[in-house]
Amino acid sequence: MDLNLKTVSDKVDAGERLTADDARALFDSHDVWTIGRLADRVRRRMHGNAAYYNVNRHFNYSNVCALSCHFCDFYRKRGEAGAYEFSTDDARAQARDAREAGATEIHMVGGLHPYLPFSYYTDMLEAIRGEYPHLHIKAFTAVEIVHLARIDKRPNDLAGVLGDLRDAGLGSLPGGGAEVFDDRCHDEAYKGKIRSDKWLEVHDVAHELGLMSNATILYGHIESIDDRIGHLMLLREAQDRAIERGWPGRFQTVIPLPFVPGESKLRHLPGPTGLDDLKMMAISRLVLDNFDHVKAFWIMQTIELSQLALQFGVDDIDGTVVWYDITKVKRDGSTHQEMSAGHLRRAIAEAGFEPIERDTLYRRVARDGAAWRLADASLEHV
Ligand code: SF4
Repeated sequence: MDLNLKTVSDKVDAGERLTADDARALFDSHDVWTIGRLADRVRRRMHGNAAYYNVNRHFNYSNVCALSCHFCDFYRKRGEAGAYEFSTDDARAQARDAREAGATEIHMVGGLHPYLPFSYYTDMLEAIRGEYPHLHIKAFTAVEIVHLARIDKRPNDLAGVLGDLRDAGLGSLPGGGAEVFDDRCHDEAYKGKIRSDKWLEVHDVAHELGLMSNATILYGHIESIDDRIGHLMLLREAQDRAIERGWPGRFQTVIPLPFVPGESKLRHLPGPTGLDDLKMMAISRLVLDNFDHVKAFWIMQTIELSQLALQFGVDDIDGTVVWYDITKVKRDGSTHQEMSAGHLRRAIAEAGFEPIERDTLYRRVARDGAAWRLADASLEHV
């Protein structure tokens, strides 16, 4: 074992919280096996041999965006080749497809469309809920929430905006749009986007309202290791806040997202390596002691590395996905990126874990083909 990790190892054994210096020692170490073993120890303490997956469907309602983030290969300007915006009927059709495929969740995010009114979003939520009431709608990153508040001319009423979206069918918030909480990175690569304080404020307000949410960190571009550590510390503080204040909502999972250069303005950068991916997931597990879950997103990490990540602190692999437009791995630009539930279960079992299907709120799901119910019969669909 790398002797520089001895203090961290002792703290993990004792269940003590790690400091920023401990996180730095982990990032600086090349002893990836010890880092993995430590994360695995914590992961097994929390979840035993269970590894979660979900049957879901992603829906990117529009790629038209007012911003031009340098790492983004998704956005188009209105009228530009490839720009699109789906209608309410399209959203309804997505919900119908999701029901027929037995999905428990629709994950819905898009660009910051400069012209669509607030009613477009509430109509879309209501259309999905009307078609398939048991489908959990996880939608709109904090960046989109702030954008919706602006287009509805109530930039300071985040609680009102989130409340209206919840009344229309919003079930929880995804974790995107956080990137890296650092002003230098923000100004160089995603200027125009909200800064960390606003991102955290949206999630605070959501948690106070009782909405669950997730968190991400986009790494492997222009950020430093200290920027990553600072980001994790701010997430941990935000979760402490939700817990200490007794808010009914909180972060459920952190999803470390590797930067994928694609055709973005940062395409000259190589993106992170597999070892960096494994360390980032393991260190997230070790530092975020108040987060229940660490998720691998196979679209970005690949299913092969996600399998291995289960031994590096990860307890959850998202998901069946089906259509995903934000990061296109296939060279033909296809947005069809689907993993069957059977394939996910096999991948998890092969790694030595027990595959457990969950819903968005991490409740166990009992399934018979496309028909599903919550395994705990005392719980209702939400
Ligand atoms: S990352 Fe989001 S906000 Fe930035 S350009 Fe892409 S779609 Fe727009």
